[in-house]
Amino acid sequence: MDFKELLLGWYRLHGRSLPWRQSADPYRVWVSEVILQQTRVSQGVSYYLNFIDAFPSISALAKASPDDVMKVWQGLGYYTRARNLQAGAKQVMELHNGELPSTYKELLKIKGLGAYSAAAVASFAFNEAVPAIDGNVYRILARVFGIFTSVDSAAGKREFFELGKELIDEAEPAAFNQAIIDFGALVCTPRAAKCEECPLREFCYAYRNNIVYTLPVKGKRIVPRDRFFIYLMIKHKGYTYVNKRAGKDIWHSLYEFPLIETKTLVSPDELLQLDEWFDLFGGVDTTVLSISEPIKHQLSHLTLYARFVIVEVSSVSYHLKSCYRRIALGKLHELSVPRLIDLYLAAEPAEKYFRT
Ligand code: SF4
Repeated sequence: MDFKELLLGWYRLHGRSLPWRQSADPYRVWVSEVILQQTRVSQGVSYYLNFIDAFPSISALAKASPDDVMKVWQGLGYYTRARNLQAGAKQVMELHNGELPSTYKELLKIKGLGAYSAAAVASFAFNEAVPAIDGNVYRILARVFGIFTSVDSAAGKREFFELGKELIDEAEPAAFNQAIIDFGALVCTPRAAKCEECPLREFCYAYRNNIVYTLPVKGKRIVPRDRFFIYLMIKHKGYTYVNKRAGKDIWHSLYEFPLIETKTLVSPDELLQLDEWFDLFGGVDTTVLSISEPIKHQLSHLTLYARFVIVEVSSVSYHLKSCYRRIALGKLHELSVPRLIDLYLAAEPAEKYFRT
C-alpha cells in the first residue's frame, strides 16, 4: 500500500467526527477553518456552534453589526479573523450573489481566505483536488518524505504544495485533506509522535533515520554533517559477514558489512593500524584484495564518505563470529541494504572480487 492508501485506511478507522464535517456547506467549512486557525479543536467547537447559530448564512453575517460579531467571537482571540470573515461575507454578497465561489483560484480572492482555508473550502465543499497544507501537513510530509527545505521559505511552500498535489486522492480530495490533518493532530504530533503505532513508519524517512523531531525544518537550512565509514567486505570460504543496523541512527533494520566509523578520512595505511581492524582480524592471515577510493554519498542531513575494503581471511576470529551474521556470498542480494551499499555492489570492482 502507498502513502495515500495507508492514510485513508487509518482515517476510516480513526478520523475525528467534528460538527462542521456533518455538512459540506461552503460557508460552514469557511467559518470552521477560520476559527481553527490559532485555536485548538476542543475550544473551537463551541465557538463554531455559537457562531453558526448567531449567523446561519453569509447574508446574515454580512448584515450583522460588527459589535454582534465581536460579541460571539469574544474570548477566542485574534479578532482580525472575525473582522476579515465579515468583510469576506460582504464581498461575497456584493460580487457573488451571496454564494462562495467554487474554485480554489476564485476563493483565494475573498478577503480572509488564505491558501490553506481556500483549499479546505474548495476540497471539503466542492471536491476540488487541491491540497490544504497547514502545520500538520508540513510536519507529516517533511517527516515521511525527508524534506529539509524550510517550511517558512517560499521555495518550501512551493515544494510542499507540489508534493501535496501529487499525493492527493483525486477521487476523495476532501477525505484525503481531512485525513492528513487528523493524522497530524492525533498520531504524527509535534512533540510526542506515536511512531510505534503509526501505519506509515515502514517508509517514514524521519522514523527510519531517527530524526523525527528534527523535521520539519523551520528557519535556517540544516547543513549536512560529515561522517566517515569503512565497510569491510570479508571473504571466507564462500561466505561473508553482515550486521543488521539497530539503535538510533540512520538505516534502521537494514543490513550492512562490518563497519568501522572514523572521525576523519583515513588512508589505507592508517586503516590497517586501527584498533577495530585488530579486533576483527588480530591473529588471522588477511589478504586485502581491494580498497576503494572514498565514495561520497549524500543524505539530506549527512554527507557520508565510505571506503569499501575487500579482504580475504584464512580463518574467522571469535569477535567476527560472535558479533556478525555469516551469510553465503550468493545470498547477499536477498538482504535489504542501504542504497550506498547497493550501488557499490552493483559496480566494479566489487563484482570482480566478491561474486562467488
Ligand atoms: S513514523 Fe512517526 S514520524 Fe513518521 S509519520 Fe509516523 S508518527 Fe510521524
